[in-house]
This record gives sequence, structure tokens and C-alpha cells, in this order.
Amino acid sequence: MSEVLVLVDAVDGKVTKPTLELLTIARRLGEPSAVVIGSADAESLKKYGAAKIYTVEDADTKDYLVAPKAEVLAQLVEKTSPAAVLVVSTGEGKEVAGRLAVKTDSGLITDAVDVADDGTTTQSVFAGNFTVKAKVTKGTPIITVKPNSATPEEAAGDGAEEAFAATVSDAAKGAKITGSEPRKASGRPELTEAAIVVSGGRGTGGNFEPVEAFADSLGAAVGASRAAVDSGWYPHSFQVGQTGKTVSPQLYVANGISGAIQHRAGMQTSKTIVAVNKDEEAPIFELVDFGVVGDLHAVLPAATEQVNQR
Ligand code: FAD
Repeated sequence: MSEVLVLVDAVDGKVTKPTLELLTIARRLGEPSAVVIGSADAESLKKYGAAKIYTVEDADTKDYLVAPKAEVLAQLVEKTSPAAVLVVSTGEGKEVAGRLAVKTDSGLITDAVDVADDGTTTQSVFAGNFTVKAKVTKGTPIITVKPNSATPEEAAGDGAEEAFAATVSDAAKGAKITGSEPRKASGRPELTEAAIVVSGGRGTGGNFEPVEAFADSLGAAVGASRAAVDSGWYPHSFQVGQTGKTVSPQLYVANGISGAIQHRAGMQTSKTIVAVNKDEEAPIFELVDFGVVGDLHAVLPAATEQVNQR
């Protein structure tokens, strides 16, 4: 069976959930080989089916931006002739994938939301209005997959570790990282990985306290609509939608959000959707499983109190 290379995304050595999703998808196409550039917890890679783990501990990659990673992957593609290369659809992931496609003269598909066992990908485009099926026809299929496109499934893999000695050219070291600071931890789960997301929109009037308090009562992540972000009420990294993050939690609670198509594009695949909106005609109510017509500043504190009592 051919190898399928999965570029591992890890934060402080902890493998991210989207990487575990890629390992699950990779098993449809062949035998997953995890590629660790830096450090990552090998046990979770094995637990989710990595048959092989390539480790690249080259000082040349650590302090640089994306170009060295693309070079390392290109050398691994040459060595292993994989059935496909899967990368998480983050900003960095897509840049690495694009560079890799050029280096290996291969076809590239970005932002897939599904990959079938014959390599056919599904993309959701134009704010979810069209579904595109596509397949790479040249070289090694290089596919970036959006987070929350699959449910990570455990499947013990051998996880045989193999150090890969890559060479990084001077040209790839054109931009060096001069410093980085971790984002202040909120104690809340990562937005794209959370099982519950509680979001606020223009209806918050800029007061996110009830949204945050309700999120904390449920152990949820906080999201925001673009109107809230553009108003400077919440950072862009929490924006859900076409030009923000795509989330697909078990439960999504939209508060003071009208339900514009661009917002839906980032949350409509959530398993259960609840909305609180004072306008009973708001389009978000077309989408919900449960709706509350009311002022979020009254509804959310009452709901928080109820949850906290349990
Ligand atoms: P509004 O549409 O103004 O809705 C506010 C809602 O709050 C209303 O329904 C109102 O009834 C309700 N409300 C008011 N007060 C209360 C209260 N006290 N209690 C309860 N309910 C109340 N938007 C995104 O969200 N994400 C994106 O990624 C995104 N990308 C975009 C990309 C493009 C190219 C474009 C053109 C637009 C994009 N937008 C995006 C913007 C989108 O079209 C909407 O403008 C935006 O989603 C509206 O945000 P909102 O629902 O918070 O605000």
C-alpha cells in the first residue's frame, strides 16, 4: 500500500485535532506516514493510525518561515512517491502546500472538506452555495483539508520512527523568525477544535460578557461575527464565517447574529444550532434546531445561571 504523507501540525508538541482528522482521512488513500518538522507527541500519532513517523529535527527549519518546510516535504515526496500529501488548511499549511506543488510539479487542491478513497475531493465554495468535486490529475496529489472535515478515529498504527535528514537551501532561508510570543491563554478551547461554540454578533452591542460567561459555563469556545470583529469588539482570530474560521462543533449558539450567508458558511455544518435573536424574522432562524426570540442580555445570563446550577 502506498504511503500518504501527513504534515503534522502541533502546538508546543501537542498534535492538533485537525492533524488527527488528516490521519483518519489518509487511511482511505493508503498508509499514513506522519511528517514531524520540529516536535510532536508520537503516541497520539500512533494512536490515530500513523504507520510511520518521519522526524525532521533540522535546525534549518525551526527558525524560518514556510519555505524550508516545503523543501523538506519535496525531498520526502521524491524519496517515498506517496499516493498523496495532506496538509491542514491553515494559512501556513496552504503556503507550504502551494510551494510543494510547484517544487514537485504536482496538482494542488486547497480547502477540501472531504476526500474520498479514490482521491476525489469536495470543496464548498461561494459561501457554501456550490459544492465542487475535483481530483488531482498531475504528479502527487497535494491536498489541504479544512479543520473539522472528519471525525478523528483511533486505529493503532506502528508509528515506526525514522529520522529524515533533509537539506535546506540558502534560498529557502530568506526570511528568519526573529521572535515569537505565545498568545495570552484564555483557558477556553481552540475555536476550530471546540465541541461547543458560543458566538456573539452585532446584537451584543459590543458587550461580550454575557456571551463569554455562557461559553464558560459550558466549557465552550467563543466566536464572533464579522460585524462584531469589524466593530473592534472581538479579535479577528475569533471570526466565524467565509472570511474567518470554519467550525463544526456538536453545538453552536449564535447570539445577536442575523445569519448572513457569509456567517453561515463557517458554521452551518454544526451538529446542533441554537440562536438567540430579538427579531423573530431573523434569517438565522431558518437554520436552527432551537431558537429563542429575546434579548440576549436577558436570555444568556438566565441560561448561564441555569447551567451553573447543574
Ligand atoms: P447583523 O446582520 O447586523 O445582525 C445583528 C442581529 O442581532 C440582528 O438579527 C438583530 O435582530 C440581532 N439583535 C440585535 N440586538 C439584539 C439583542 N439585544 N439580543 C438579541 N439579538 C439582537 N460575516 C461573518 O460573520 N463572517 C464572515 O466570515 C464574513 N465574511 C464576509 C465576506 C464578504 C466578502 C462579505 C461581503 C461579507 C462577509 N461577512 C461575514 C458579513 C456578513 O455579510 C454580515 O454582514 C455579518 O455576518 C453580520 O453580522 P451580524 O449578524 O453580527 O450583524
